[in-house]
Amino acid sequence: MGNRAQVTVKVTDRVFLMAPPARFKPVEKVTTVTTESLQPKAITGIKVVSTEEKPKGKVRIEDAELIVSVGRGFKKQEDLKLAFELAEVLGAEIGCSRPIAADLKWLSEDHWVGLSGHKVRPKLYMAVGISGQPQHLAGMMESKTVVVINSDPNAPFFKNCDYGVVEDLYKFVPALTKKLREILKK
Ligand SMILES: Cc1cc2nc3c(=O)[nH]c(=O)nc-3n(C[C@H](O)[C@H](O)[C@H](O)COP(=O)(O)OP(=O)(O)OC[C@H]3O[C@@H](n4cnc5c(N)ncnc54)[C@H](O)[C@@H]3O)c2cc1C
Repeated sequence: MGNRAQVTVKVTDRVFLMAPPARFKPVEKVTTVTTESLQPKAITGIKVVSTEEKPKGKVRIEDAELIVSVGRGFKKQEDLKLAFELAEVLGAEIGCSRPIAADLKWLSEDHWVGLSGHKVRPKLYMAVGISGQPQHLAGMMESKTVVVINSDPNAPFFKNCDYGVVEDLYKFVPALTKKLREILKK
């Protein structure tokens, strides 16, 4: 439940576990695991009429080591170019909050981070204009270093970051891109 609730369950029978990619760190030592093949029982009363493959996007945000993620702090779709420029200098992928992909449709769902989006574990997660609601945090909490840029000092994300910048993204992001360009000579 987006890191808000946890439950410990003792299982005595077989269990079927599914984990999204990059969600958990691999355990160092596995005790005893035995695997066996099971033949699922045929399901009756359901007829598959047709199947359709989900179109594969170019972005594999789950595998990204560096992510610049955008939220509703951006006022217009064309303003996202500020984040794209920053991401280009860093060699980062672009992530986003749900409203950007699901409501505004400014970016494809490949970029969507969160409880109902992709779970990511990059070395650097830079959240720009994202408030930091639990459903978003659920997708990126295991990032190594989190940088938050938000003009509201009370944005919840500031409680969940390593570095917080209270500033208007329209001022800060271009200045950061310029500085990084000088440092990285790009
Ligand atoms: C069942 C369920 C599942 C959900 N799953 C997800 C999910 O997977 N991923 C997800 O992201 N959300 C998810 N949500 C939605 C989530 O609750 C939030 O509504 C969403 O994350 C908010 O997106 P946001 O931070 O971009 O927008 P907002 O909450 O509107 O925040 C915008 C932020 O931008 C800042 N800002 C504004 N102007 C500037 C500026 N000029 N410079 C700097 N900062 C500025 C504001 O201070 C604010 O903090 C889910 C919700 C539900 C109910």
